[in-house]
Amino acid sequence: MLDNLTQRLAKVVKTMRGEARLTETNTAEMLREVRLALLEADVALPAVRDFIAKVKQKAMGEEVLAALSPGQALVGVVQRELAAMMGGDLGPEASLLSFATQPPAVILMAGLQGAGKTTTVGKLAKFLKEKHKKKVLTVSADVYRPAAIGQLQTVTAQVGADFFPSLPTDKPVDIALAALDFAKRHYHDVLIIDTAGRLGIDADMMAEIAALHAAVKPIETLFVVDAMLGQDAINTAKAFNDALPLTGIVLTKLDGDARGGAALSVRHITGKPIKFAGVAEKLDGLEAFDPQRMANRILGMGDILALVEEAQKGVDMAAAQDMAQKIKSGGRFDLNDFKAQLGQMKKMGGMASMMDKLPAQFQQAATGANMGNADKQVRRMEGMINSMTKQERAKPELIKATRKRRIAAGAGVQVQEVNRMLAQFDQMQTMMKKLKGGGMMKMMRSMKG
Ligand code: GDP
Repeated sequence: MLDNLTQRLAKVVKTMRGEARLTETNTAEMLREVRLALLEADVALPAVRDFIAKVKQKAMGEEVLAALSPGQALVGVVQRELAAMMGGDLGPEASLLSFATQPPAVILMAGLQGAGKTTTVGKLAKFLKEKHKKKVLTVSADVYRPAAIGQLQTVTAQVGADFFPSLPTDKPVDIALAALDFAKRHYHDVLIIDTAGRLGIDADMMAEIAALHAAVKPIETLFVVDAMLGQDAINTAKAFNDALPLTGIVLTKLDGDARGGAALSVRHITGKPIKFAGVAEKLDGLEAFDPQRMANRILGMGDILALVEEAQKGVDMAAAQDMAQKIKSGGRFDLNDFKAQLGQMKKMGGMASMMDKLPAQFQQAATGANMGNADKQVRRMEGMINSMTKQERAKPELIKATRKRRIAAGAGVQVQEVNRMLAQFDQMQTMMKKLKGGGMMKMMRSMKG
């Protein structure tokens, strides 16, 4: 499925190659692919609609860098917006959780059965203990599943936090209040309350957790949701968000093959920040949620942003415009200009390095060529031009057999290669004559893929 998305985006980049800018028409075409791609990544429809509208708005105002094709530029906008919508603005790890000025800070865990609540309590206890040096107490208010209380006791012991025992015959609110009282008396900084889940949304469960919330007034109410739920995550998230003032979301089982679409859907429906990601069954498998990385995961691609930045710093717009001006005013495109163009490509880190930033299928779809080889060729061409005299570069027609032999020897290549390079240059010169300025930028773009 992820491959599908990558292929769709590659197709978008490919079909938009040769177009000079993002227009209403080509953007709409591309966004149709992005929309399908997101639906395939399990993002819920309302979230997709909202997202596409945002991207459209951003894309129309986007200035497309000369170094990028409009397709690449649009994929860049999609990636940035995706990260932004998943909470790209969330602060550093320390601000992930609030701590009470009057300890203990109570954290209430909510979510369906099997979402990963109990495991996450263990992980959070470890995180708070080790990273924030907090004294942590855990308690289970799950009086329905006989094994639940024991399971929490086990994970709590594993991370070396304190555990408040409860009995299946106690009432959940009484258990929570007793644990809170105990935490106060024993100077715990944090009390984490695990709650009962159900297999599906259930009115009794919602009423119970709402009552717990009212009784203990938690500073954090975290909704734990399984990333593998995909589309179904949205209904669950809505039900919990309606019943409780959630403060954040924990997305679990991201180490599986979930496509991550749930992240966007859940964030969209609740408007609450995704604070943590569960990335392993083990108790150290908890990470601060990284919107950037999740955007890449949903898009199934390499670091396209790095590519955009590279292009930004590498391309000498002034030089490109100078050349365009020269051609336009009837100037001749000579080997010096040819060399300058090759230099531009090298400045951008070379074709191979640019393409390295994209995943394999993307590279092949976008270029169909072996870019490592292209870089080597560029270097050889430069070598040959460097072996020429100033006069030869300005007037390539001077280069006959004897000169060719000298140039080949100087660059350490065969004469045939000099011939091939000159033929390529001829082609380029003919193209330049036809283009006359206006098409110049367009051609440079298409050269860069
Ligand atoms: P609860 O019913 O919500 O308390 O869910 P549990 O904590 O019992 O977790 C249900 C199952 O999911 C257990 O087998 C956990 O080991 C597993 N699990 C929880 N979080 C993660 C995670 O981030 N990654 C993986 N791979 N498994 C997880």
